[in-house]
Amino acid sequence: MSANLSADKDTSCTLVRILGTSVKPGEEHVLDLQVARLYTRTNIEIPVVVRRGLTDGPVLLLLAGVHGDEINGIDTVRRILDDVKSRPLERGTLVAIPILNVFGFLAMKRALPDGRDLNRFFPGSASGSLASRLAHALVTEVLPAVDVVIDLHSGADQRYNHPHLRYTEGDEASLELSRVFDPPLILRASVRPRSIRAHLTSTGKRYVLFEGGKARSLDNDAIREAHRGITRVMEHLGLWNGPSDSERGAVNVHDSKWMRAPMSGLFQPIMDNGSQVEQGMVLGLISDPYGGDAKQVKATMAGHILCVNTAPVVNQGDALFHLGLAPALP
Ligand SMILES: [Zn+2]
Repeated sequence: MSANLSADKDTSCTLVRILGTSVKPGEEHVLDLQVARLYTRTNIEIPVVVRRGLTDGPVLLLLAGVHGDEINGIDTVRRILDDVKSRPLERGTLVAIPILNVFGFLAMKRALPDGRDLNRFFPGSASGSLASRLAHALVTEVLPAVDVVIDLHSGADQRYNHPHLRYTEGDEASLELSRVFDPPLILRASVRPRSIRAHLTSTGKRYVLFEGGKARSLDNDAIREAHRGITRVMEHLGLWNGPSDSERGAVNVHDSKWMRAPMSGLFQPIMDNGSQVEQGMVLGLISDPYGGDAKQVKATMAGHILCVNTAPVVNQGDALFHLGLAPALP
């Protein structure tokens, strides 16, 4: 499906070519990334929405649903696409993939049907596993046209991420863009091999990874933060005129660490997600259903809480609180 296909050819503008389609200034397209059919012979098409402004500028990709059960990012992208209807792009191009892992989304699962995590198969290959083929399709048919990527995630299972961004040490351009995004926290995190972050960092493209809320849920605070940050980045890149609000100043954290359950039992968090805590502070309690003594979950270091496990029942060793050390960067 496409609109305004009759637009005059403008040879003075930069070529924006995605999925074999040349996108001209002012055009809107919904293209399809095709990877594989279901075993029911149903063709799976992954919609890629493209909106190009009237003048040249950066190409921004909003990516969500890399993990099929992370819905917050999907709704965030939907809200931005809704915004663009009433606030057309001034320049540049917006590419939106609200649900990359359609296979996982259909089953409301993080992984692909074979259990593979798509985010461990970049840059992928045309003849590999389904995860590898999907990664390869994105890398070869969409990413070459893109300058900046914002990748939206949520905590797995019951782990609720306080809204934050993650960047790779040494990737100063992405860190600068993360500051523009202006989340509550920015975490310097080690890069996982074969993740989309590892791939994009190696290609030199600017990449912002947002974490907020938890899987299989719509968390308004997380969605609001992601929507605000993306709006700020779009204004910074010139896609929209701005800025629309003032910077609050993100807290930088690094060397994050999980506080784990000292025993199995019923878990009650005490400290709020996002709180700044001191070493030795009691973060939560685990109680014994049979009346034995409760145990405290304490902070083994000072820091900011990046994530709280919201599971009511936990096993010994389960990850409960994710702390990031601060202050970090100058
Ligand atoms: Zn994710």
